[in-house]
Amino acid sequence: MPLLVTGTIGIDTVHTPTAKVEEVSGGSCAYFAAAAAFHHSPIRIVGAVGGDWPREHASLLESIDGLCLDGLERRDSSKTFAWGGRYFDNMNQRETLFTELGVLEEAPPKVPESYEDSRLIFLANSHPSVQLDLLNQFPGRQLAVADTMDLWINIARDELLILFKEIDGVIINDAEAEQLTEITNPITAAREIIKMGPSFVIVKKGEHGAVLVHQEGIAVVPAFPLELEGVIDPTGAGDSFAGGFMGHIASAGSLDFKTMQEAMAWGTVTASFTLGSFGLDGLATTTREQLNDRLDEFKEIVKIG
Ligand code: AMP
Repeated sequence: MPLLVTGTIGIDTVHTPTAKVEEVSGGSCAYFAAAAAFHHSPIRIVGAVGGDWPREHASLLESIDGLCLDGLERRDSSKTFAWGGRYFDNMNQRETLFTELGVLEEAPPKVPESYEDSRLIFLANSHPSVQLDLLNQFPGRQLAVADTMDLWINIARDELLILFKEIDGVIINDAEAEQLTEITNPITAAREIIKMGPSFVIVKKGEHGAVLVHQEGIAVVPAFPLELEGVIDPTGAGDSFAGGFMGHIASAGSLDFKTMQEAMAWGTVTASFTLGSFGLDGLATTTREQLNDRLDEFKEIVKIG
């Protein structure tokens, strides 16, 4: 099932309790695609960067096997999306320091003709009207799933609610689910989001795992248990979870509940490699064999009975 993603390709600044890094490669689309490419290829990217996009970021993205960059527009006179965030001591919560929209304030990137047969669409974090614009170009899709973020819930709620009526699934974190619904319980919040349109919702809870609320039932996965030294930078872990999840569905070619349960496990182990480094490096230096080994380890850890 051909899988397409749109979202941000970003230049990130990240503060953790022990380090500060500037100009690292990031963006919701980049993390998603790098994670999904372990499971399925090609992953079709639709996005835009400006003339300030660092050469090393381009080389890194180009070095990742299984990405199709035909839909990546380079706009020389524009600015790349840039984001800065600071993690609190527990590394499970963060605040946004700045968001510079850059290319996101311009016309959405064009979808290449060669992407027209895409059947799975992932709308990684971006302005909801950009997400909607892309979605409307794929009337023949089989599954559309979206993520969103505090900024868009604050400034573009109306567009977000229009988007939610059109999509099948939402992958969101616990704080955003609460912001959207004013409900703290993630399962009840997910049910409230389902009333807004989608047929399933995954609420990500950082180090506490994730829960899938689906019309056929509920599934939960814990996070992969990492020691302190394995958690260097959580940025992009949510997008990487979504990439592992959707990538598995694309390779399985099936949209049923059982496949989604397995996909939750793949999303979890894929995301665990993002946490170990700043930027895309964690995913870019991981092999499929390491991923398989970690899935086996995860299955042992969660075994019941
Ligand atoms: P995550 O940690 O999974 O929520 O994803 C963080 C990534 O999303 C970073 O690499 C940022 O560049 C990107 N990002 C941050 N804020 C936004 C936003 N409002 N819209 C789209 N992408 C964003």
